[in-house]
Formats: sequence, C-alpha cells, structure tokens
Amino acid sequence: MLKQIQDALCASDVDALLLTSPQNRRYATGFPSTAGVCLIDRKGGYLFTDFRYIEAARQRAGGQFTVEQVQGSYAKMVNDVCARDGVRTLAFEEGYMTCGDHAQWQRALNARLEPMGRLLSSLREVKTPREVDCCVAAQRIAEHALAEVLNDIRAGVTEKHLAARLTYYMLDYGGEAMSFEPIVVSGAKSSMPHGVPSDKPLEAGDFVTMDFGCTVEGYCSDMTRTVAVGYATDEMRRVYDVVLEAQRAGIAAARPGVSGREVDRAARAVIEQAGYGACFGHSFGHGIGLDIHETPVAAPNNTALLAAGNIISAEPGIYLPGKFGVRIEDMLCITPDGCRNLTNAPKELVICG
Ligand code: ZN
Ligand code: ZN
Repeated sequence: MLKQIQDALCASDVDALLLTSPQNRRYATGFPSTAGVCLIDRKGGYLFTDFRYIEAARQRAGGQFTVEQVQGSYAKMVNDVCARDGVRTLAFEEGYMTCGDHAQWQRALNARLEPMGRLLSSLREVKTPREVDCCVAAQRIAEHALAEVLNDIRAGVTEKHLAARLTYYMLDYGGEAMSFEPIVVSGAKSSMPHGVPSDKPLEAGDFVTMDFGCTVEGYCSDMTRTVAVGYATDEMRRVYDVVLEAQRAGIAAARPGVSGREVDRAARAVIEQAGYGACFGHSFGHGIGLDIHETPVAAPNNTALLAAGNIISAEPGIYLPGKFGVRIEDMLCITPDGCRNLTNAPKELVICG
C-alpha cells in the first residue's frame, strides 16, 4: 500500500503520515503488531517497532519499508527522519490518538502535528481484490460455523453456550480472531440489538439472534441470522418477512453513486410501510475492513456516495421490546454496476430443535 499512500500524500498539504493505530500500521505495512510507529513521507516508508516484533517485521515489511528497532524513543527516530527528509508537518490519527499521547508527541517532535482527516480512510474505503478476498474468506468461516451451530440450537441450551460454540467453530475453521464478541440473544432479550449472551436457556417459541464474525489477515467478517426454536408464531413470521424484504430492498439500492442515506432509506421505507418504523432504531449498514465498524456507513445522515470497492453491511432489524427482535445481516461489496453479496448463508426462516 506504500505507493498508494504516498500518492495520496503528494496530493495533500502535509509532508508525512504518523501512523500509531494497529489497523493503519497494518494497512500500510501488511505487518500486524500491538506496538510500533509507521512513518510515511514522500521519499519513503519507515516502520519502527520493538525487540518483540523486529525479526517478523523485517521479514514481512522489510521489502518496502525501512524497518528499525526502536532506540531511545519513537519520537527521536521520527525526528531523525523528519530532519533528513525535510518533513515539517505530520498528519496524525485524530480519531485514535488520545489527548495525552498527542500532547506528549507534540512536545517531543520538531514537526507540527495536523489532523489526518480522510487522507487514509478514503483509501481504506476502497478495497483491493486481495482485501475483498480476505473478507470473503472470513465470511466463509463464519458461515461454516453457523451451519454447525444450528445443530446445537434447541430448548435448554444457553445463549452463552451458543456464543462459545460459535467462537470455537470460527477459530477451529481457520479464523484468526473474533471480529467482535459474538452476540447471541434469545426470546424477549432479542429485542436488544447489542444484547450480551447470558445464562438464559432457550425456550420453544424463542427467536435467537446471532451476530458474529471472525478475521482473516486482519480483515473482518460480520453476519447476523435470526432463527426460531421449536416453532414461530404468525407475528414472528410476519416480522421476519418484513426485515428480509427490507434487507433485499436495501441491497437492490446499493451501487456506486448512490448515497449511504439512499440505501438506508430504501430498506427503512419497507419497515415503515409495514408499521414498524419506530422499531428500527439503528442504521442499515456500516463499512467493514480492518475495523469492524468503519466508513462508509449506510445511515440516514450520510450523504456521501458509495463507490466500487466499498464493503458495507446490510443489517436492518425490527425490535419489539418485551417480545422479540429480528435482524438479518449480510456483507456487500459495491461493484461497478451494483453490488456483490459476499454472504452465502440462506435467509429463509429456519426453525431449530
Ligand atoms: Zn453484525
Ligand atoms: Zn454489522
């Protein structure tokens, strides 16, 4: 990614980028680590890290980046490069760096720190084919885990048990890590979109909402399926069908040149027409990549236009407090003439147990 980042840098009014967040460092260098600093100026790329990572960092990033073990302090090493390459302004990650770290960096640096804005996020929003492949690989693992866990769902097993099974299956099938802690909520608790799995046993007539994903090469997958235990009432089926229809409407609207707001609107209109408008209190979708939630978002307040290469979730839901909730989530990749659904798992209502 070094060349693309340098091109974006040349079109900006800062001299260099100071990357301290693990995701941006990984994006730029391809090398994952919990500690280190990546500096990119118009002349080159530098990765400074500590003894624990230095050997692997040289192997993985040494081709494109000058990789050095931290000596003294990161700030000193950054100052040395800035002096050598004539760097006077450094873009920092204002969405990541704490106020305390910013103050410390600014005191130590001879260059001036300026907010990065969208310089890097606009690049990260447009995935390369390799990045899409990583998300798809992570998604296939999650689907494999879903197929397995459906056999575990029956009255009497707890939400926590199912969350643990999903975690185990995703790791066993090749996931590196969870994209986030799996959400498994059932019965009346399924009306809480981000509820936490508990010791509550499933009961016949419950909806179970499972929202989960894993990472491959750092790239996340994200999917949600809602299934019924034993049986589903007419109201449960009706609500399920509305959510599915809303999701299909949003997917049909997702293409380059359409705003995130319009995609959200297409899905929301279906839910409003069915009389459940007040029960869909979150947005239709979010960007997915090295972060589980990133830009662009398909939300009522986002007027920015989608572009080919964006990956977004498609996850409308209807939540009836005290009764139940339904959410169905796929991942979409925007293509030149529409979108590709990266999720293969079926969406017809499944009755388990
Ligand atoms: Zn999700
Ligand atoms: Zn999501």
